[in-house]
Amino acid sequence: MKVYISADIEGIAGVSHWEEASGTGYGYQESRQLMTQEVLAACQGAFEAGAEEVVIKDAHASGRNIITSQLPEKVRIVRGWSGHPFAMMQELDDSFAAAMLIGYHCSSVKESNPLAHTLKTKIDHLKINGHFASEFLLNAYTAAMVKVPVVLLSGDAAICEEAKDLNKNIHTFKVSRGCGASSMSLSPRQACREIQEGASTALKTDISQCRIDLPEYFEIEIKFNDPTSAYRASFYPGVKKGDAQTVLFETEDYFDVLRMLIFIL
Ligand SMILES: [Zn+2]
Repeated sequence: MKVYISADIEGIAGVSHWEEASGTGYGYQESRQLMTQEVLAACQGAFEAGAEEVVIKDAHASGRNIITSQLPEKVRIVRGWSGHPFAMMQELDDSFAAAMLIGYHCSSVKESNPLAHTLKTKIDHLKINGHFASEFLLNAYTAAMVKVPVVLLSGDAAICEEAKDLNKNIHTFKVSRGCGASSMSLSPRQACREIQEGASTALKTDISQCRIDLPEYFEIEIKFNDPTSAYRASFYPGVKKGDAQTVLFETEDYFDVLRMLIFIL
């Protein structure tokens, strides 16, 4: 069994400020250690459940946060960004039995994380078929496209609730809950224990129950924080201008959506 892990940092227990999430900021060195520990916990759970190989995508900012010297054997890690449209899910394909998403955070329109955003902070919001979309939803659809179930998600309270709404069988672990510019988080030690036990349980239960349905048609709306970004994005083939800050895009093929995002953001 091969297991895929995509890891972000804003939904890691104990991370609550942009300084802690940016490479030069105060507290970042501890944040990357906390991120590494949660990813390690997910790996251990996967190995306990019989995984032979785990591939990790370091999916925050530079893509170079996880402390690689701490990773166990039978793990490979994707660092940096290739430019492939799968982005936070790079190297995922149908050879994987399951995907797990660690350290995820709610979308730009939710209050459950002081670091809430969707892909880039220059975006006010992104909608898919009329609903506000998170990075979780975008990546869950990528997994659905290659027919890999998403069995586990850890992160803030709102993103866990969103995962449950998409498929109630996804194992979710709320490690923090935002309140204004603050957050209340589990102790990292407890978060890691729950993630490790959860990963093992999730992979031992019926993984197929965690499959996600991919829509047959995609209507995308992206509202930028400024009109100049929307103007530039409107020249991508198939993209139409909405109001001054908004662009629209429609397709039947989800890969077209991912390719558009990588070029216009
Ligand atoms: Zn991030």
